[in-house]
Amino acid sequence: MIDNKYDLIIIGAGASGIMAAASALKDNKTVLVLDNQDAPLRKVKISGGGRCNFTNLDMSADHYVSENPHFVKSALTQFKVSDFLAEMDKHNIEYYEKKLGQIFCKNKSSDIVNYLLDQSKDANFLFNTDVISLQKSDVFEIETSKGHFNAPNVIIATGGISYPMLGVSNFAAEIAKNFGINVIDFSPALVPLRLQNPYTELAGTSLFCKISIGKKFFYDDILFTHKGLSGPAILKISSYWTKGISVDIDLLPNQDIKQLINQEKSSRGKIPLHPFLKNYFSTKFATWILNQTEVDNKNLQELPKAQIELLYNFIHYFSVKPVGDMGYDIAEISKGGIDTKELSSKTFETNKVSGLYFIGEAIDIAGDLGGYNIWFAFASGFIAGKCQTDNQS
Ligand SMILES: Cc1cc2nc3c(=O)[nH]c(=O)nc-3n(C[C@H](O)[C@H](O)[C@H](O)COP(=O)(O)OP(=O)(O)OC[C@H]3O[C@@H](n4cnc5c(N)ncnc54)[C@H](O)[C@@H]3O)c2cc1C
Repeated sequence: MIDNKYDLIIIGAGASGIMAAASALKDNKTVLVLDNQDAPLRKVKISGGGRCNFTNLDMSADHYVSENPHFVKSALTQFKVSDFLAEMDKHNIEYYEKKLGQIFCKNKSSDIVNYLLDQSKDANFLFNTDVISLQKSDVFEIETSKGHFNAPNVIIATGGISYPMLGVSNFAAEIAKNFGINVIDFSPALVPLRLQNPYTELAGTSLFCKISIGKKFFYDDILFTHKGLSGPAILKISSYWTKGISVDIDLLPNQDIKQLINQEKSSRGKIPLHPFLKNYFSTKFATWILNQTEVDNKNLQELPKAQIELLYNFIHYFSVKPVGDMGYDIAEISKGGIDTKELSSKTFETNKVSGLYFIGEAIDIAGDLGGYNIWFAFASGFIAGKCQTDNQS
């Protein structure tokens, strides 16, 4: 039986919304969760290739992009990775560190999905429900395709706009605008980049690199594709990229090709360049380097200094100027959203409308690849869920 009056109504049954429900229920609040799709946590289910990379051992505000990079600090202090991992242990949910601190479910993301659904089972849920209007008088009045509901507190947890096949919407931004709350325009992030002249001969080749834009850099794999560049390093740097900016790539990070050539010359020296490069790159990649630089495949001893210099610059200072990204269809997240200046960093309540909260990807916080987005969704949901103002209904 669905009532009309609640302590809290949450719009959006994703990572942040369900965590908010679980958190509010711990305080014995009555909670209604509305979603316009037919099931909860659909992004969490497919996340991390079906294993949900839900957090990272290297957790800090440096891993989040926002117009206000400090905003996320309070949430990361209030909701700790170690506490959540202890909670996973308590519920026998197995996880492991894949690489670079990334924590994945050992079995399937459904372990986390089931955990969250269990924690929020005392909420009332309405799926396939469209919100027609949301207004505030003494309390919030919500008109939906399944009836009228009210509550003194409303959390908007409708996520970002990437991956449209999952039925995403711009709901959070529209509601914000109705209440005079500023919104930063969305754009795709954690997304492959397109090149004017992609290196199609290398499509499918991946390589460990250092990739940077200005002072921001990552060490991870890049993947050459038919349209441009992808792979974790590219997805990570894409959040810092805007049109017109170059992406710098060190194709052999932490090593110096000049030094390696000199060492080889002083030991054997008779080895031609191509087999020498194969010590560090695949055959295909070594061939490509020679083609691109037009350096001769001579014995290292015979390589002129100028050609070594050319190789050095090509390998360590490779640079591309993408012409665009691959768009929302395959972007893992969208960056932008509710301007964090409009929110309390301690509670996620809006400064302008008491009792109205925004959480998760809907707000202008975009995490790096590596478990940071689900983590922020969880953290903001947990905090907003327990920060409800007194029931005035
Ligand atoms: C393929 C893929 C893989 C990913 N893998 C990872 C990963 O491994 N680790 C990681 O940290 N992040 C990952 N992400 C990102 C992560 O899933 C999201 O950042 C996170 O789920 C955001 O949580 P949220 O609660 O803000 O939004 P969502 O989880 O998107 O939930 C929003 C909810 O709101 C509902 N909704 C939308 N509009 C309306 C409306 N108008 N009315 C009612 N309900 C509405 C939606 O149906 C949905 O249930 C991945 C994303 C994708 C697309």
